[in-house]
Amino acid sequence: MVFRRCLGALLLASSAVAMAQVPALIDVHMHFQVSKGALPPGAAGAAVASMDRLGIARSLLMPPPQVDTSLRGFHDLSDLQVAVRSHPGRFALLGGSALNAMIHHTPAGAVDDAIKTRFRQQALDYVKQGAVGFGEIAIVHLSLPAMGESHPYEAVPADHPLLLLLADVAAEQQRPIDLHFDLVPEAMPLPEALRPNTANPQQLEANGEAFKRLLAHNPKAVIIWSHVGFEPLLTRHPARVRQMLETYPNLHMSFRLNRSAPRPAAALDPSGRVKPQWLALIGDFPDRFMLGSDSFYGPGGIERGGTEEGLQNLRSLVEQLPPEVARQVARDNAVRLFRLQP
Ligand SMILES: [Zn+2]
Repeated sequence: MVFRRCLGALLLASSAVAMAQVPALIDVHMHFQVSKGALPPGAAGAAVASMDRLGIARSLLMPPPQVDTSLRGFHDLSDLQVAVRSHPGRFALLGGSALNAMIHHTPAGAVDDAIKTRFRQQALDYVKQGAVGFGEIAIVHLSLPAMGESHPYEAVPADHPLLLLLADVAAEQQRPIDLHFDLVPEAMPLPEALRPNTANPQQLEANGEAFKRLLAHNPKAVIIWSHVGFEPLLTRHPARVRQMLETYPNLHMSFRLNRSAPRPAAALDPSGRVKPQWLALIGDFPDRFMLGSDSFYGPGGIERGGTEEGLQNLRSLVEQLPPEVARQVARDNAVRLFRLQP
């Protein structure tokens, strides 16, 4: 602990001089703007053009967490295969929509052996189709006005039996889980900015304890808690992240850095510099962080979610890290955890 603090301070002091030679990045959290179960023509090409411009070698592609299978945008791993086939080596896939819908449509108390078997079969089916992980899976997902009125609100207890089962399958199959979880450490009223989307409840209940039970359930399950560094509730401040990384060795995170904010949970300051507490944290846990844009690509490039500025910010983050740490965060951690082919 003392050693880690010292190391963090040391990396912090040296980072200004040792600007990283930034390697090609891996974006571990990317989406397509799918309609009627099909990738719009040109979307994969537009994404690759963007990736080339921004120095992103590969993106991990996944459906966003959806529960309503009747929506036009509902899709799953099989609908994304076309991007992998048309641009070999540039994408890898995660599967999750069918699992996410089952988790959110099945009350915890109603999970029986038959449901567990079906759930497990679906997860194994993704693996057979080439999934490198499971995602995006939502535990608590707030509806954001910036993402449109139909952006879903989803919430289940983090220790829902199907989430625990997913952790077991993830451990057994060596496939990480990409989780969306808006952390509410203590009950709080819904922030003003989220009120326009009426699917959100007016009062948010505390949800952190159940999440700890999920993390502890199977220590061999690699869990990637996405969107650290900029998220709607800004509850993942550095002291809390540090404590959780220390307590749960299977916990990892991917940065989404669309904007800066003064609150400590935002990793960037208004000038685009990584805040000192965040630099120290990344330096102390260099094998636990990755980059995940959360961009939704369409034929014209990014259409929603993580912005072009957000992608530049991810690049700028690694440029501000010491070279060795930069390589881990930008690329090596993703290759190791998702067991990506070179
Ligand atoms: Zn998400």
